[in-house]
Amino acid sequence: MTESVAQEAPRTLWIDTLINKALEGEGISRQEALELETLTAAELEFLFDGTRRVREKFHGRDVKICSIVNAKSGRCPEVCGFCSQSSAFETDSPEYPLMDVDAIVASAKEAEAFGSNEFSIVTSGTAMTDRTELDTLKQAIRRIKAETKLETCCSLGLMSTEHLKELKEAGLDRFHHNLETAASHFDQVVSTHSYNDEKRAVENAKEAGIPVCVGGIFGMGESFAQRVELAVDIRELETASFPVNFLKPQPGTAMEHLELMPTLEGLRTIALLRLVNPRLDMFVCGGREEVFGNQQEKVFSAGANGILGGNYLTTKGQDPKRDIEMIESLGLTPVLESTTK
Ligand code: SF4
Repeated sequence: MTESVAQEAPRTLWIDTLINKALEGEGISRQEALELETLTAAELEFLFDGTRRVREKFHGRDVKICSIVNAKSGRCPEVCGFCSQSSAFETDSPEYPLMDVDAIVASAKEAEAFGSNEFSIVTSGTAMTDRTELDTLKQAIRRIKAETKLETCCSLGLMSTEHLKELKEAGLDRFHHNLETAASHFDQVVSTHSYNDEKRAVENAKEAGIPVCVGGIFGMGESFAQRVELAVDIRELETASFPVNFLKPQPGTAMEHLELMPTLEGLRTIALLRLVNPRLDMFVCGGREEVFGNQQEKVFSAGANGILGGNYLTTKGQDPKRDIEMIESLGLTPVLESTTK
């Protein structure tokens, strides 16, 4: 054995210990997660072989594809520094009121035709409280459940338990709510509501009996320790799935000057999230094309078992057919139908 290999051996042993812990299903400790920041590029390659095994153990070779429609856009009174839909910023993000039922259902059918298994209806604003809007949404959910095989999801802001129960009765399968960033970084990102408000919305959905998809946005000036903080917080919330977004700085927003996260840091972040939360469905959503470019397939080795396909809230995504080809070329299976009905 050469001297350099001998010197590296203890690190690979340590990585193996972490992987074995994750393979047991519990996830690594906060302290262990913090140390992932020190891994070199070569050590990360070794780590990704392990995170791939963790993904395969808990999620097999399926890759879930989720789609969204931005059903109501812009004019939001909240001030979230990353978001081009906040009325505090001058951006060229589209502005329109809630789409009608037919248009939402048509988007869902289009997503199903491209191979999505879950469809999420996303609206801008603090929360959806308007009775007419809620009724439109309930009708759209009922029709999507009746006319497609899609699972339904909504992302509607800081919702009350009562309104979420109504949506559940209409057929809502899942509620999405990002915590955005770690509690200790939150006031650097959002100035009009608190981290506790975000957490309350997650608790409300749980109280309404709806599985919750809770994630965040990475690359908003947070430290690695703050990424760990968010990953552990999400584990403690016992949620159903984890959407991972990477900031794409939007012109006109408070974060327009930030740089895209480098690819390797993006992969390190996914691996961290997978090792802390081995069992969670993890979707790579906004920023996938920009951060990972022609290395997008590596997100699955780092631990992701899903992607958001098609277009994102205010920016274009890559052609869904290319996503399916990429997944199949890796010997993985795009999940074309709901597996939880
Ligand atoms: S992230 Fe949501 S709440 Fe914040 S400004 Fe954008 S649309 Fe409004």
